Amino acid sequence: MTANSYPDTKLFLNGEWKPSRSGQTIAVADPATGEVIGQVSKAAIPDLDEALAAAQAGFEKWSATSAYERAKIMRAAANLLRERKEKIAWIMTREQGKPLAEAIGEVGAGADLIDWFAEEARRTYGQIIPARMPNVSQLAVKLPVGPVAAFSPWNFPINQVVRKLSAALAAGCSIIIKAPEETPASPAELVRVFADAGVPAGVVGLVFGIPSEISEYLIPHPTIRKITFTGSTPVGKHLAGLAGQHMKRTTMELGGHAPAIVLADADIDKAVKVLSFSKFRNAGQVCVSPTRLLVEEPVFDRFLTGFVHATEAIKVGNGLDASSTMGPLANERRIPALEELIADAVEQGGTLKTGGRRIGNSGNFFEPTVLANVPKSARIMNEEPFGPVAIINSISGLEDGITEANRLPFGLASYAFTSSQAAVHAIGMRVQSGMTSINHNGLALPEVPFGGIKDSGYGDEGGSAAIESYLMTKFVTTAA
Ligand code: NAD
Repeated sequence: MTANSYPDTKLFLNGEWKPSRSGQTIAVADPATGEVIGQVSKAAIPDLDEALAAAQAGFEKWSATSAYERAKIMRAAANLLRERKEKIAWIMTREQGKPLAEAIGEVGAGADLIDWFAEEARRTYGQIIPARMPNVSQLAVKLPVGPVAAFSPWNFPINQVVRKLSAALAAGCSIIIKAPEETPASPAELVRVFADAGVPAGVVGLVFGIPSEISEYLIPHPTIRKITFTGSTPVGKHLAGLAGQHMKRTTMELGGHAPAIVLADADIDKAVKVLSFSKFRNAGQVCVSPTRLLVEEPVFDRFLTGFVHATEAIKVGNGLDASSTMGPLANERRIPALEELIADAVEQGGTLKTGGRRIGNSGNFFEPTVLANVPKSARIMNEEPFGPVAIINSISGLEDGITEANRLPFGLASYAFTSSQAAVHAIGMRVQSGMTSINHNGLALPEVPFGGIKDSGYGDEGGSAAIESYLMTKFVTTAA
């Protein structure tokens, strides 16, 4: 590949980049232009069989490699990722659309995540349990669960893979990744840094194809011991059900509909700044994106005016253009989906304050949008928009805000802005979400927990708990 050319993507099977045995490929389009820029190999069942056999052999090798050695290889991969950051980010922007600065940030954050998990590899401590008899020893040791099947989406092509890949490798597991067909080349570059850093053949496999065909084959397969999925709630429920039938462990990172409670005593300018940035980052295609902005009545007008102003200042354009602060949507199918949600909100009495339409005829560009006073019955108040649309509704106070925050079956992220310690405590303890960020957006760092509750899934993808879901506890008792 020469500098700044978009590569075709092959499967990574048993340490080699290979086309599918079927010879079939899937076209990859640039969301900023609609132009087909490359092809990704579409795995057939014999390709999956090869990945599975390699994952089994890879597991035997990698689980017998010391944590110290695994950590060394992982840190080398992190360094390679940093060295190749600019090139990989360019590829990501081509296939996903996000502004280049965001893509560079994502690749750099990926390297930090690998380093964090490399350190965690060396801390998978067990326990010595006092025995009842003087000649008995009792040990609880942590062992890797086995080969993992990971399914990741297109919104953060590196970040969504690197969390799963790093935790699995740190624990001593092998992994088969089914990465997104829409954005295949940047996750392939991530896999390449691990291969170049010295991860043995078979430890990491990478496949693409028809997602349902691959998941229906891998999840029940006896080689696979753990499933991890990031994507929508309906697909997550389906895959968790399949995993349950086959007694496989799962981590599910699913959709959200994050509330942000803004109370009258908050720093309103800061709330506008943080929430508008968080809303429109990655064109709103973020599972923790603030969506229902619940603003206390006395400051409602001021917040709304400021937020609309910030929204209208966003420069939408090709992510490769340095002046763009928001790129296109990654998938064309999200445009009619957003148009329908916005039309329904307006029909039901909501007010469209700004945006609401597709931009131009080529590329998946959509105006950053603000809706206000949207009734609870509107679809967008209940379904995740997964796009650049903010809803700003008024609340009568803290209790009203908490009630509305907890109304939906989702529970991933929540936000709040207030200067009251009592409100901070109430929101932190009572808003039903896996993560709450108050007076700033501090989510998703490697060292902090990341995950949801209720229909947003279960399991941690960050912090010291994340590696646990790739480990089993084995009890060993010995009489002398
Ligand atoms: P979708 O439900 O069709 O797909 C979501 C992801 O799951 C994609 O990566 C897809 O390839 C994968 N997938 C779909 N069916 C699968 C199956 N049977 N087996 C394995 N993988 C499967 O939705 P979409 O149109 O791609 O995205 C829109 C919705 O997805 C959003 O509304 C959002 O809720 C959700 N989503 C969530 C995240 C997240 O970070 N939690 C990321 C991307 C998408």
